[in-house]
Amino acid sequence: MEFRLSDEETAFQEAVRRFGDKVLRTHERQIDAEGRIPDEVLRPMADLGLLSMMAPTEYGGMGASAVLTELAAEEVGRGDFSMATAVFFLLEAGWGYILGRHGTEETKREVLPPVCAGKAFLGIATTEPTGGSDLAGMHTISRRDGDGFLLHGEKSFVSGVEEAKQLGGGHLTLSKNAGGGFNFLYVPTRSEGLTTQRFHNMGRMGISTGGLSYQDVRVPSKYLISREGKGFEAAMEGFSVARTFVSAACIGAAERALETGIGYIRERQVFGQPLGKFEAIQFELVDLWTQVEAVKWQCRRAAWLLDQYPLRGDHSHRSEVERAVASVKLTAPPIAFECVKRVMMWFGAAGYTTDVGLELGLRGIMSYMVGAEGGLNIMRIILGRELLGREFLPYK
Ligand SMILES: Cc1cc2nc3c(=O)[nH]c(=O)nc-3n(C[C@H](O)[C@H](O)[C@H](O)COP(=O)(O)OP(=O)(O)OC[C@H]3O[C@@H](n4cnc5c(N)ncnc54)[C@H](O)[C@@H]3O)c2cc1C
Repeated sequence: MEFRLSDEETAFQEAVRRFGDKVLRTHERQIDAEGRIPDEVLRPMADLGLLSMMAPTEYGGMGASAVLTELAAEEVGRGDFSMATAVFFLLEAGWGYILGRHGTEETKREVLPPVCAGKAFLGIATTEPTGGSDLAGMHTISRRDGDGFLLHGEKSFVSGVEEAKQLGGGHLTLSKNAGGGFNFLYVPTRSEGLTTQRFHNMGRMGISTGGLSYQDVRVPSKYLISREGKGFEAAMEGFSVARTFVSAACIGAAERALETGIGYIRERQVFGQPLGKFEAIQFELVDLWTQVEAVKWQCRRAAWLLDQYPLRGDHSHRSEVERAVASVKLTAPPIAFECVKRVMMWFGAAGYTTDVGLELGLRGIMSYMVGAEGGLNIMRIILGRELLGREFLPYK
């Protein structure tokens, strides 16, 4: 067992932290206020290799391991506390990886290089207005039509809708086919018959969330991910990867909150001594730090497992990987949220101001509590299934 990062991993982690300190922290307010991630942020991200960093090198990516990507996600979450850049980062990392693994050669050559260069966006579209947890109950359909598919239906709460429209790019889109299977298709947002709508969120304002409506959108066969009717597996594989990076970003944000809090309670004088001398505060800090430390290593282990046993390729370790990923997605967002909330309280009234900035994290992390990349109860259902067996699933 080796818990030390390699020299290469440490050097990369330090480089991303420097980028986070210099570029992300100084732009996070602008990102939140303007509702977009500016070029001054995307360009250095591309230069560092952070955009879709798991995509193979021949398509412009770094071919990075899940462990290296997890380390980067921690730093991006620590740098832009609003979580907007982390979402941009992790969607491209996770779904670029899936496109690299299961896309056709032509599509990889067309889509991945601009995504890795920051000139296009790649995301995921599974959720529908009727619900996101029960994916098997979705209504969007794709039927064969000559050398391609006709896609009809609606997706909602999809991240990056505006980015894909403005920059170019699109979403890996899950739909049902006539035989009851699932087709997973890359759908460019500028396709004919596709319209978009922007929703108004309460946080992570720098990346849009919206609806996609498909009126018989023609999707060429080259855009099929994995095999016809077998797309569900590839989508689930992508969720495992993306959920690991969501958790990593939350851990980075939790550490930033605690660092902010430590700085404050060392200095803030109450009743003639620093706030940090009072056990009520000190013990709270220690309890939070211990939980963050535990979940960080749980997350790094999940990433390590993903590298060892790419999910659907090695069924013998499927359950181990599923348990590791679901348990970290279940624990990381709530502990990050708790850290930010507690530190806000240590600041007293100042914590409630935008000057201190903790509210940015609170609003962003909340997205992972309500549902983004799968709700907390869905993680519990996955874990229940893995611990008790499929016959204990609470639905048919
Ligand atoms: C900011 C943001 C960005 C998002 N980005 C994307 C994206 O890029 N692409 C995309 O496809 N989707 C995206 N989503 C949607 C996300 O995947 C869904 O929110 C999630 O799957 C839950 O679906 P839902 O919101 O329809 O809630 P529902 O499925 O209606 O569930 C409602 C609540 O009930 C819980 N629940 C559901 N079933 C059970 C059960 N059997 N037992 C107990 N509790 C249950 C859920 O955990 C949830 O808390 C995003 C969401 C947010 C908030």
